[in-house]
Amino acid sequence: MSRAHGRPETRTRVAIAYCGDVAKVRLDSITKIFDSVVAVEDVSLDVGDHDFMILLGPSGCGKSTLLRIIAGLEEPTEGDVYIGDVKVNEIEPKLRDVAMVFQSYALYPHKTVRANIEFPLKVRGAPKAERAAEAAKAAESLGLTEYLDRKPGQLSGGQRQRVALARAIVRRPAVFCMDEPLSNLDAKLRSETRAELVALHRRLASTFIYVTHDQVEAMTMGTRVAVMSRGELQQVGTPQDVYSKPATVFVAEFIGTPPMNIFPVGMLDESGYLVGIRPEHVLVDSASPVRAHVDVVEHLGHETLINCRLGDTRVMVRLGGDEVAPCVGDDIGLITPVNHRHHFDATTQRRVDE
Ligand code: ATP
Repeated sequence: MSRAHGRPETRTRVAIAYCGDVAKVRLDSITKIFDSVVAVEDVSLDVGDHDFMILLGPSGCGKSTLLRIIAGLEEPTEGDVYIGDVKVNEIEPKLRDVAMVFQSYALYPHKTVRANIEFPLKVRGAPKAERAAEAAKAAESLGLTEYLDRKPGQLSGGQRQRVALARAIVRRPAVFCMDEPLSNLDAKLRSETRAELVALHRRLASTFIYVTHDQVEAMTMGTRVAVMSRGELQQVGTPQDVYSKPATVFVAEFIGTPPMNIFPVGMLDESGYLVGIRPEHVLVDSASPVRAHVDVVEHLGHETLINCRLGDTRVMVRLGGDEVAPCVGDDIGLITPVNHRHHFDATTQRRVDE
């Protein structure tokens, strides 16, 4: 459904006028320096209309700063932000048509769930009947109908997070920005809410930009993932792309549990490059002359992880749960199939495809 068509005529739209349905976001050479800290360095990124873009990286890599710059809560030191075809650098946050959902919910404790959800529409001056209808619809879509008359303090963390989402939904923003919204939830709720978010993204047909340091969230929800390290963008691609063709050693080691094994130059071949190979691609074969010493064996049921040493290099091997596993202290033979090797330049740390 076109977002433009879905909006009630009575609503006062103060936001920038986008052309058609376009809710794409473009970052052009964004740098952000706080005092002397370079939080984001020369990041250019295109987020397509209806993308579910994940900004992924370790703590302090600059992902929240980038999201806040998109939402207008932070000004870039250099560079431009576009929503649709409009440059929004000078446009204040509330006029950007971007809804922000935080980890901390930021709900009004003394208002009911209904009043919390209706709040953005009230601020906008929408009539009471419209507010009620929109809130009821958003609440229903997130399973909150029976809690509408409760206060946030009478809800679980997961329910509060859904109220925060419902409050964002009623605004029908062009872009949803979410900053680690699931990190307060326990593992089960997180996994359920992940699925809800994916369904919500499909239903709303909006653009989502979602910050997390959790690669499982990134891989399971994102249509595309932007991996960041130390303020720089390392790679942008589908979850499958970043897993199977990591652009840098950082991405190779950050995506995947356990991470990709990286062998020093000259250890496995004469290519002159670092060689990477995923734990599930290393084979155990007693006939192999490449011998490793087993230090730890982790039986996880569906898989077994073998932590071993090849000279001074640590190697992780992933076996299926029903495969025969070696024991701690064994010497085992390893095979690193050529077709599963990734090469990286030792100086630039970038992928080399020949
Ligand atoms: P986390 O996952 O821990 O929230 P992040 O990847 O979102 O981390 P940012 O919050 O964007 O990282 O911070 C990036 C860098 O900028 C960090 O070194 C941080 O200390 C610094 N930084 C962020 N905000 C400010 C600020 N207001 N003043 C000074 N430095 C800041």
